[in-house]
Amino acid sequence: MTFAELGLSEDVLRAITESGYESPTEIQAKAIPICLEGKDVIGASQTGTGKTAAFALPSLSRIKPLGKPQILVLEPTRELAHQVAEQFEKYGKHTGLKVALIHGGVGYGKQDEQMKNGADIVVACPGRLLDHFFRATMRFGEIKCLILDEVDRMLDMGFMPAVRKIVALCPWEGRQTLFFSATMPPALSTFAQWCLTDPTEITV
Ligand code: AMP
Repeated sequence: MTFAELGLSEDVLRAITESGYESPTEIQAKAIPICLEGKDVIGASQTGTGKTAAFALPSLSRIKPLGKPQILVLEPTRELAHQVAEQFEKYGKHTGLKVALIHGGVGYGKQDEQMKNGADIVVACPGRLLDHFFRATMRFGEIKCLILDEVDRMLDMGFMPAVRKIVALCPWEGRQTLFFSATMPPALSTFAQWCLTDPTEITV
């Protein structure tokens, strides 16, 4: 299996070649074709498996620059949000799509600037993202792909009330939702049923 066989956009394939990746990892080979069809995915996969590229590559391949948030990724920690935003920048460098990184513990200046400059992709921690919504610096109306990453960690950290609000703010019609969690306690499977439509399960 090669990256070229998976159906990714030319811009994204160019960035992969420049990254030096030779072939897709198992989760990438399984998830990318399904994600490219616009289907919902529920994935049980750990960090280190290539999970980030598994959701970043197809979502980057499916949108064109618009200057409004179209891909939203929720992460439990600042560190993860940083790493994921960096990967979106790396894989999306030939697409013209812009990335904003949103998390607490820092001022609003740079984040406001990134939002004002027309971010297409927003990688965020839930609490600060809602602050941006209330300040009208974040809008959800054009979100086409919602990625919930490390959902079990967001549950452990008490973020689910904020995550539920965010999911409810995103459009339902035509939205793709990708859900990743290493474990699936009952509270999460109820939540997954609410926010996913006919999801394909992927385990590696
Ligand atoms: P992740 O599981 O998303 O945290 O990714 C783990 C690491 O694997 C990251 O540093 C990626 O840059 C790298 N990586 C992802 N996909 C591939 C691939 N297909 N070939 C080689 N390295 C990869």
